[in-house]
Amino acid sequence: MSNHFPVDRDLFNDVMVPNYAPSAVIPVRGKGSRVWDQQDREYIDFAGGIAVNCLGHCHPALVSALKEQGEKIWHLSNVMTNEPALRLAKKLVDNTFAEKIYFANSGAESNEAALKLARRWAIEVHGSDKTQIIAFKQGFHGRTFFTVTVGGQAAYSDGFGPKPADVVHAEYNNLDSVKALISDKTCAIMIEPLQGEGGIISPTDEFIKGVRQLCDQHNALLIFDEVQTGVGRTGDLYAYMGLGVTPDILTTAKALGGGFPIAAMLTTTEIAQYLKIGTHGSTYGGNPLACAVGEAAFDTVNTPEVLNGVKAKAQLCIDALNAINDKYNVFSEIRGKGLLIGAVLNETYQGRAKEILIAAMAEGVMTLVAGPSIIRFAPSLVIPDTDIAEGMALFEKAIAKIAS
Ligand SMILES: *Cc1c(COP(=O)(O)O)cnc(C)c1O
Repeated sequence: MSNHFPVDRDLFNDVMVPNYAPSAVIPVRGKGSRVWDQQDREYIDFAGGIAVNCLGHCHPALVSALKEQGEKIWHLSNVMTNEPALRLAKKLVDNTFAEKIYFANSGAESNEAALKLARRWAIEVHGSDKTQIIAFKQGFHGRTFFTVTVGGQAAYSDGFGPKPADVVHAEYNNLDSVKALISDKTCAIMIEPLQGEGGIISPTDEFIKGVRQLCDQHNALLIFDEVQTGVGRTGDLYAYMGLGVTPDILTTAKALGGGFPIAAMLTTTEIAQYLKIGTHGSTYGGNPLACAVGEAAFDTVNTPEVLNGVKAKAQLCIDALNAINDKYNVFSEIRGKGLLIGAVLNETYQGRAKEILIAAMAEGVMTLVAGPSIIRFAPSLVIPDTDIAEGMALFEKAIAKIAS
């Protein structure tokens, strides 16, 4: 019994709000790092659902957690707590700096919670004029109106009327630009510990430590947006661990559910107390189904084998990209950390990242872009080495076509 009817890409234009421009391909199933479309064409997935599918598609541990919880209880709301939420929260607390967890459903929502908490904390502890948020140009924190205003691309927040106030932007990796803005009126600095959407930009050691120091000097909170970098992506459980800089608030989403929508805000008991009863909330946040899958993803990723594997697999990707570049001279730099890799197009190929992504898709490999001139790779953390080799061979074919 089914009332399914055939659908194709054309229907998108008929029935969907036109804020996206999806590819012509409609994938219908996936297994590990392979995906098949409606015509049963096979693709190797280096995109990972934008750094979400940390264990590839339909990982057995996640499928089993979903099925098991799916037969037990799906949803309660926060009028009651639930076992999966408590277990996942306990694991996040035991494995990070955090002492308290707030669950949300998306990266933007976890950042919204972080920003609201920082404001409450600052106003209650230090006074009503400590409200300034410092963030960074090219930063990305989501699409709610507060988070998109904190994000560093005005084009994304323009055109919606008056923006949330007291948000300013410094330059990433430029400590002087932060010094020029920060004061005792600063409530928090929100920063990605590696800019993802903004172009795969790692912070210098001096910069990120300097940002922590400036926050301490001015009693401002340091918020790390680890929505993209969290849960093993960089080879550490969280990127802050590899930087040796601990934030006051951290947000995590994307890979946290391995493909199931879930997010969390992590903080200390001292700061958490300012989100007291009734100050913030979410109907779905901490939903048992999401948390059960999140727990399975967390357990699977948080092992030395997977985390060390990220470093080894990243090297395979980098070696393959360098070999492609030796032949075709298209990249000026291969950068990033762990399995969040950016291949930066050189002068000759500026602005052609999207074109390369489409060419790669035509060869059977899914990639991402980070802006007009960077190809981004965010594959599964457990992608088989043979899939990396095969996918890179397909990617090379696409580059050969573009470069000829
Ligand atoms: C993807 C992303 C977000 C937004 O997450 P959504 O789930 O789309 O709301 C926020 N911050 C960073 C760093 C991201 O990469």
